[in-house]
Amino acid sequence: MSILPITVWGDKILRETTKKVDKVDDKLITLIRDMFETMENANGVGLAANQVGSDKSLFIVDLRMVEDFKDTKPLVMINPEFVELSDEQVFYEEGCLSLPLLTADVERPEYIRIKYLDANEQEQIFESDDFFARVIQHEYDHLIGKMIPDRVDDKEKKKLQSHLKKILNRDLNISYPITDK
Ligand code: ZN
Repeated sequence: MSILPITVWGDKILRETTKKVDKVDDKLITLIRDMFETMENANGVGLAANQVGSDKSLFIVDLRMVEDFKDTKPLVMINPEFVELSDEQVFYEEGCLSLPLLTADVERPEYIRIKYLDANEQEQIFESDDFFARVIQHEYDHLIGKMIPDRVDDKEKKKLQSHLKKILNRDLNISYPITDK
């Protein structure tokens, strides 16, 4: 297994829509293992494939480091699609490994129902109205090229500009490997 450099703000692949996975082969299993190792090394709770430079429609989530979610199972979601998103919206603070040291309050639907393929190519349905729902929506956004600054209003976005510039210039002390400028 290997720890891969994480793509950051400014890397083109983060703005592209990912491609559907046709087959879960050995190459994809290796990618998933590398993603888990990369995410753990960076103390993340979710990671999308394009955050390690792959254009595949897949992300992983592992909330076991979060107090109330210690007993949950890590998830691999391949070709995910929302089946339901609630009208009720909630604000919550989000961070992102591709936006090092940045946080912002993001408004999102409270409840989600999502279908996806697991690593055994079995179709699964997952529903949540808690932190899981939040993380899954954040990771799904990566698969369609969206990031936190796209999900806040103009006033909030302005506040993020100087930090985004620092990321572009690699002008930050980051504790995990990221892509070169
Ligand atoms: Zn992210």
